[in-house]
Amino acid sequence: MQTLYGTLLQPSSPSECTVAGNTTVRLGEDGKIAEVAPGRPAADDVIGDEGCWILPGFIDAHLHLPQWDRRGIDGLGLSDWHQRIVYPAEARFRDSGFAEALAEEFVSGVISHGTTTVAAFGSPFSAATDRVFAVFARRGLRAVYGRMLNDMNCPEELSTPADQALDEARELAARWHGAENGRLSYAFCPRTPVCCSEKLMRGAAALAGMLDCYIQSHAGESAAEVSAVRERFPDNLDDIDVYAEMGLLTSRTLLGHGVVLSRDERKQVAETQTTLVHCPTANIFLECGLMDYVAHRGAGIRIVLGSSIAGGPDPFMPRVAVTCIETAKGLKIHAIPRGAQQVPTPAEAWWLLTRGAAEGLGMAGRVGLIEPGLEADCLVIRPEKWIAELPPHEQVSALLYTIRPRQIEHVFIAGHRVGP
Ligand SMILES: [Zn+2]
Repeated sequence: MQTLYGTLLQPSSPSECTVAGNTTVRLGEDGKIAEVAPGRPAADDVIGDEGCWILPGFIDAHLHLPQWDRRGIDGLGLSDWHQRIVYPAEARFRDSGFAEALAEEFVSGVISHGTTTVAAFGSPFSAATDRVFAVFARRGLRAVYGRMLNDMNCPEELSTPADQALDEARELAARWHGAENGRLSYAFCPRTPVCCSEKLMRGAAALAGMLDCYIQSHAGESAAEVSAVRERFPDNLDDIDVYAEMGLLTSRTLLGHGVVLSRDERKQVAETQTTLVHCPTANIFLECGLMDYVAHRGAGIRIVLGSSIAGGPDPFMPRVAVTCIETAKGLKIHAIPRGAQQVPTPAEAWWLLTRGAAEGLGMAGRVGLIEPGLEADCLVIRPEKWIAELPPHEQVSALLYTIRPRQIEHVFIAGHRVGP
């Protein structure tokens, strides 16, 4: 039994984030939150004090583990990025010992940035994917993960015939989906419609449905990417239409980016309850475009956030959330009539980092809030002192903009202290 003490910050809805000073949170032996109560605990072994804040752990819903050690390499557009960074980074995973070592660094890295749940892509190598899952199991990270699937329009050494890739993916799913008391989940990961045969996409959709696994992919990342999809599927209207036809739009699908989505595509994504993963830092880093968060949300799309490592340079999710706001402000500045567009508030940003992300990943019954009965994925941080002197709504804003990874003192996942 672990006892935490401090100021509790957590979102209660997309528009409201509550701040409760002088709060005790008890973690049970079962890894769940046992109690949240006002007042200071009497116990000696308390973690935290008046200067500490307790928050739900951050959820990063789109990143590429093989690119962990390729962050911040600027100057490449999306196409060169694939050729010069993505493919060589993944090719190294033919050596599963290398994959295991990088996975260790990845886990330490994301945890030290306060991320307790990831939805990440692996390499197209099954042995490496298995070793990475074993690292997640041992280190206690909550993860959705899967082997990358592609069988065309990618380097030969990364391409696997559809039948073989699907067989191997099914074996991985059988071993890891739901493992570690549900902390680990498997995702079928067709890279993009351009890199996958119809057989591979349809097979991935069928297996994911049968095994109740996730699907992760990319759509509408840039205008060039959209044109490439159209060239390959001239009979379909657009990317989203291709995905719909292949059976890949589901309530268990996490679709990365969606920078370029027409009104009809927005409608289709919303209607299928597909979760869109907004990756604003990556969209700017690779100069793909500014996603219109407000319009997407207005169309009823369920949106979560991703660092998109290493297309995005920074794994710190509050920075991604701030960039979500800044992107919306950029669009607002240039909107006609000027100022017509709204921007997400800091309270909404906290929601996107925690509870909203848990809902988008179908994990709302497990994580995303600090509430009795939910699994204890939480952070104890020590922000700058002056924040406590502000009125609550200003605290919510100031903390979002000033929080830094070095202020994170303890990270818990399922009640276990895992870092930093
Ligand atoms: Zn990606």
